[in-house]
Amino acid sequence: MFLKTNDLQCLLLYLDAFTDEEISYLYKQLNDMGKSMVFIQCEEVLEQKIPPQSLVLKETFQDKIFGPQKIIESAMDLTGFESYQMLVVSKSHQQLKPAINLPIGTVLYNKNPHILYEDIGHLPDLKVEEIEKIPQLFNLTTGYFSEIVTTYITQYKPLSNSGYVFRFFAQSEQTSVEMISAGRYFGPKHSLYESIQLSKRITKSKSETSQNNLFKSIYKPIIQFINEQNLVSGITRVPSRPEKADRLAPIVKMLSIELGFKDLSSNLICINNYPTHKNLGKEQRFINVRNQFKADLMEPLEHVVIIDDVFTTGATMLECAKTLYNAGVKKVTGVVLGVNQFADEFLDRYIVCENCGGRLHLRLNNKNRSAFYGCEHYHQHQCPTLSYGKGLNRMVTENSIKLANTLDKF
Ligand SMILES: [Zn+2]
Repeated sequence: MFLKTNDLQCLLLYLDAFTDEEISYLYKQLNDMGKSMVFIQCEEVLEQKIPPQSLVLKETFQDKIFGPQKIIESAMDLTGFESYQMLVVSKSHQQLKPAINLPIGTVLYNKNPHILYEDIGHLPDLKVEEIEKIPQLFNLTTGYFSEIVTTYITQYKPLSNSGYVFRFFAQSEQTSVEMISAGRYFGPKHSLYESIQLSKRITKSKSETSQNNLFKSIYKPIIQFINEQNLVSGITRVPSRPEKADRLAPIVKMLSIELGFKDLSSNLICINNYPTHKNLGKEQRFINVRNQFKADLMEPLEHVVIIDDVFTTGATMLECAKTLYNAGVKKVTGVVLGVNQFADEFLDRYIVCENCGGRLHLRLNNKNRSAFYGCEHYHQHQCPTLSYGKGLNRMVTENSIKLANTLDKF
């Protein structure tokens, strides 16, 4: 169960590349759980052994061009379920991409531990490496680690304290860094911006420190994991420009004390107030940060972890890594809370105030960790607020794919 779905009932499986064993395993598991399954057969793919009497949809050439919305509508029609009760699973990231922003759960099943660098801006709701994980998704409240542990229904308890992370290699012509991201970041133009607390918390952390402990609890187990694979010598962060507050340095300090690693914040600094990145394209960002950082190490270091909050193009992360490599560091690993996701400009996802019809926005309580929905016209009409759980439930159910005509359901 993801923050984008509700009451999962049905699995849509893109058949390409699935073996007969995997198909029959999933079919049996889902059947035992009382869940439905619809197979999507692609044109040119060899015939797999599909269990008799199962539901099959054929992907047409048009579906390939225009994306999976029609297939999902056919599956809704065939099963009677809403799109938010469905999970689409594929072994191909390319095949999954057009479904990622639709109101349906998306899962990439793929044994490669790394996501391709060019794909990180279009991440599915989850990537799993073991087939046994897929049926479990119907029973669990799960998702990416940082998105789940920053989701507070009340001020006391996060949704869960475990979740998935993903890995990729950030690369430029001169540098490569292995990255671990704890989740996804959705900017204000993204249709999930008003659903996911992580993005709001990151925005809030730009101007104050109330989220520091929560963010520390995300970085900490990831750095411990990195240390188990490859001993860590010290921790630093992507430094802010000199005119800005060094927001991540206090988190590095806490992590260094708790984990017993060297705090290298003062050893990697930004030396210029380079122009802000906001309106720059990928290549301009790389030029913009070139030679803007300086590393001074007292001794040679083997392995340094750099933390940052949001990873967009990787320009600053790679420039910091290059600066550390040039200062003699042998290996650099990056850890971020989220990778910035591309928005689909045609998608809007919102709920309206029952009092005045204005839009409800996801807001964070200033005194504790809870989140709630508040009306954009609150000051004018004193509209009542909505709890996060109720608001998210409305967000999911009111923004599902609507079938154009009401055909008889099976
Ligand atoms: Zn209102």
